[in-house]
Order: sequence, then C-alpha cells, then structure tokens
Amino acid sequence: MTDPTEPGQTPPQGFDTLAIHAGSAPDPATGARQVPIYQTTAYQFRDADHAARLFNLEEVGYIYSRLTNPTVGALQDRIAALEGGAGAVCCSSGHAAQIMALFPLMGPGLNIVASTRLYGGTVTQFGQSIKRFGWSARFVDLDDEDAIRAAIDENTRAIFCESIANPGGYVTDIPAIARIADAAGIPLIVDNTLATPYLCRPIEMGATLVVHSLTKYLTGNGTVMGGVVVDSGSFDWSASDRFPSLSAPEPAYHGLKFHETFGAAAFTFHSIAIGLRDLGMTLNPQAAHYTLMGIETLGLRMPRHVENATRTATFLSGHDRVAAVSYAGLPDNPWHDRVQRLYPKGAGALFTVQLKGGYDACVRFIDALKLFSHVANLGDARSLAIHSASTTHRQLTEAQQVAAGAGPDLVRLSIGIEDCADIIADLDQALAAAG
Ligand SMILES: *Cc1c(COP(=O)(O)O)cnc(C)c1O
Repeated sequence: MTDPTEPGQTPPQGFDTLAIHAGSAPDPATGARQVPIYQTTAYQFRDADHAARLFNLEEVGYIYSRLTNPTVGALQDRIAALEGGAGAVCCSSGHAAQIMALFPLMGPGLNIVASTRLYGGTVTQFGQSIKRFGWSARFVDLDDEDAIRAAIDENTRAIFCESIANPGGYVTDIPAIARIADAAGIPLIVDNTLATPYLCRPIEMGATLVVHSLTKYLTGNGTVMGGVVVDSGSFDWSASDRFPSLSAPEPAYHGLKFHETFGAAAFTFHSIAIGLRDLGMTLNPQAAHYTLMGIETLGLRMPRHVENATRTATFLSGHDRVAAVSYAGLPDNPWHDRVQRLYPKGAGALFTVQLKGGYDACVRFIDALKLFSHVANLGDARSLAIHSASTTHRQLTEAQQVAAGAGPDLVRLSIGIEDCADIIADLDQALAAAG
C-alpha cells in the first residue's frame, strides 16, 4: 500500500472519476482510449516456461477467457475501486455471483444465515437449490439481533443480506450485522444491487464480500446479464479452520495455500483459479463492455433515480386509491431514520405500492400502464412495473411473499430517469383505470 498523501503519490480520486477511469488505461498495443472488447478465447504464451508459470499461479497473466479476459478485468478493477475492495470477480449473472461468493466458504452440511427480506429468486436459490450441494440457509429477520445470534452455529459460514432490500421499503443496518458476523468469526456478504456503490459502500460498514447483479443499475439500461463478487481483502481466512479452501493446502495447485500465498487477494485468486475454472460462470467481454459504459454515468443516473422515486412515492402515498407505499425514503417509513444515518444519498428507486382494490386492482393497474413497461427487471433507465406475487415471487408461499414484501395486493415499481411529470401522469391514469 502506498500512502496517497505522500508527495509524488496519486491523490485519492472521487467516485465519478473512478467510475470513468478506474481499470482503464489506454490500450498498450494501439492506444485505443476506450476499453477494447477483447473478443478472444485464448492468449499466446511467450514460451513454454511462461505457460508453465501461468498454470502454476507463479505469474499473473492471461491463459483462457473462462478464467481471465482484459475487458472483464477492466470492469473487475473498476467495480473493486468503486466499492473500496481489494479485488473483484465478474460472473455471468447476479445469481452466479451469489454461488461464486459462497463456493469458497461452503461444503456439505454447512449453512448460511440469510435475511428474510431478499430478492425472490435469491429466496428460491437459498431455500431450495443450494440444498443439492448439501448447503442450507436459515432465514432470519435481521432486525432481530438475538434471532441472528441464535441462528448461527458451528456450521455457519456467512451472513447474507441486501443493503436496500428487493422489493424495496427496507434497508439493512449493515454495521450492526457486521458486528454480529465479526463476533462469530464469519464473513458478512451484502448484495448491493439496489443501492449500488453510489448509495452504499458495504465494505466501509464492515462487510467482507459484496455481490451485485450487473444486470440492474450498474449497466443501467436493460442490456446485460452479469454479476460480480467484490472482496474487501480484510477477512482473516486463517484465523480458524473453518475456511479450508482458503487456508489449507489446495491439492489442485500442488498444495498451495491461497490465503498464505496471496494475502488480501486470496478470495479473488481462488474465485478465478478454482471458481471460474471449475464452475465456468464467466462473464463475456461484450457484456463487460456494456457495463463499463453504464458505470461511466452511474453518478449522474442514481441521484435522478432517487429524486424521481421520492417524488413518485410522495405522489402515490397521497392518492386515494393507494393503501400504502413502502419506500424507505418517505418520512413515515419505519426505516427512515436508518436511511438518513446509513444511506444519506437516498433509499434507491424501487418500492411497492399497495392498492386498495387488492389483487384484481393490481392486475387492471398493470394492464393500464403506458409509459411503464411490464417486465421482470429493475434498475433500468426506463420505468418498470411488475406484480411480484404473480411473477418474480410466484414460487414462494403466501407467507414467504408477505415476509419478502411481495404480497398479492402489491405492485413493484422501478422508477426510471424519464421526466418525473410523465411518470406520475402515467401512474395517475392507470390508478383511475384500476378503479
Ligand atoms: C436481479 C437481482 C439478483 C439476481 O441477478 P441476475 O443478474 O438476474 O441473476 C440478485 N439480487 C438482487 C437484489 C436482484 O435485484
């Protein structure tokens, strides 16, 4: 580590500068100023010795694009810089990133403690599919600190939460949860998809790992499927015998110990050398390019998303056909104090609206929307709406739907960056049509 305050050192750069410059120097071969799309599967070795050193992890370089690719590498470095992490690994989707984050920590019989307030797909991934690996999840209300401590046992390997929870209305007290994880000697993993590093930097609040769906705000235009795992580099994987993938000799690399050899980069190296190599959930360079473009304007888009969401939620909460609005940015929201303390730039742009007419009114409302698109996505520049109970949260029981904030009389809105007057006008006419 160099001290940035010493003469001759680069001063620390601001968020918007990093969003444009981190990870991208002019291309050494051509001078191309934008990050080229390195559309290549493999990379020529200098000689046989070079190849052997790369395969032994004695030298860092490019072998094969399932593991590393320069375009994807630029994106990894940029997101690591924005999150304040030691390293990052991109993956083919947000869900892939969640598996990649757990893979070095878990094994048969081991568990995670996860928030009840999660993206519907994550509840299904953790509640059902990971059981096939012999892993399991215990879902806990993260506002109940005693319940979190009670759920942690000697087989628990992580706590998992979302900073701003999907489908909105709840924000996690990350510093409080990080203290519990720390006392238990396990990492806290934060899904920062809805907040983005613009609104929340979980590592500064004590998180060990941050995961994202790049599909949402980071790309920001509904073009890409992608994910990323960012490592803080600060967890001591060797402090106990609970994380042997990182602390014990790795048979696939002649007994190399990742933590001892790579220090703060251990998790990232493991995720590339073992995770991407064997699970193959790799991000393609074209998708990385789109996300690099999107991140350049993240610092312009997020304040506009938040401003439009705040104005829209305020309008809806005063509407006589609306029973409730679950936006943590509104003053009457139960977590509004927490937003002001931990998320001072805002509570994101995703929330739910409860309509007085129940399930049927929700369906009529969705069908009457004109500017809003009815899609299973969020975090797009355009405004989106979905009836979660009949779509994204359909696989859950009604009790799980309600616990996740996706009951049958709720519509989820992802507020875009269009003119706010047009967003409000469209909602107004659809509420009239819903009757
Ligand atoms: C969309 C989403 C995911 C899953 O990401 P994909 O890119 O769709 O796999 C995970 N967490 C949250 C909060 C999401 O919004």
